[in-house]
Amino acid sequence: MQVIRLEALSDNYIFLLCYRQQNIAAVVDPAEAKPVLTKLHELEVELVAIFNTHHHSDHVGGNKELIQKFPQVTVYGGIEDRGRIPGQQVFLQAGDRVQFADRIGEVIFVPGHTRAHIAYYFPPQNPDEIGELFCGDTLFAGGCGRLFEGTPTQMADSLSQLRSLPDSTRVWCAHEYTLKNLQFALTVDSNNPDLQTRYEQVKTSRSRGEATVPSLLGVEKLTNPFLRWEKPELQSAVNSHDPIQTFARLRGMKDRF
Ligand code: ZN
Ligand code: FE
Repeated sequence: MQVIRLEALSDNYIFLLCYRQQNIAAVVDPAEAKPVLTKLHELEVELVAIFNTHHHSDHVGGNKELIQKFPQVTVYGGIEDRGRIPGQQVFLQAGDRVQFADRIGEVIFVPGHTRAHIAYYFPPQNPDEIGELFCGDTLFAGGCGRLFEGTPTQMADSLSQLRSLPDSTRVWCAHEYTLKNLQFALTVDSNNPDLQTRYEQVKTSRSRGEATVPSLLGVEKLTNPFLRWEKPELQSAVNSHDPIQTFARLRGMKDRF
């Protein structure tokens, strides 16, 4: 399975999962149909699945048109999103599995950004494969999603689940927010050498117009403040001794950043 990153809207990424041996593809969070249709045409592959992480329009905006063009496509989403995802046919909950070509994806329930948000994790099945995490707007490179429908406790719990995956996992998040996220991170974790190094790398990449997604989960664990709320330095940066209060304060500061 090959993962192809497509740009959409102002700063969204759409991910095309491709299996050339059978000329089939699946798409994660089609913000819009056009870039997906163009790529499918170019590769001469047929769309068999849409994997949605949550109901926001910048993640499901392309569903309707893709279903029209590929009527046999199967549309997956979280069970709590029933009625909110156009064309949804499969209603997933924690622990469910989805199959695409030669890979099995595990469904992780990650409420917080929305109450129904799910992530798809495709673990490596042999040493040649890489673990792939499609986390929508839950975990971002250097940050996390805003809390629209969930509490800090829920979001911290969701991020804990993602944090428990292997360091080698590739994090395919849905927006190019990395530079701004790391600018914020430096305000609360300024003495972190890994963060300083990452910030310089990302600044260079962005100045060249390069994408910063996917990132590696191991790097996120070392540099993303929203995976580091138990660290004493982050707790002292927000004047708290409580991990969840630390997380909530960090998220509140980022909202105003
Ligand atoms: Zn969203
Ligand atoms: Fe989004």
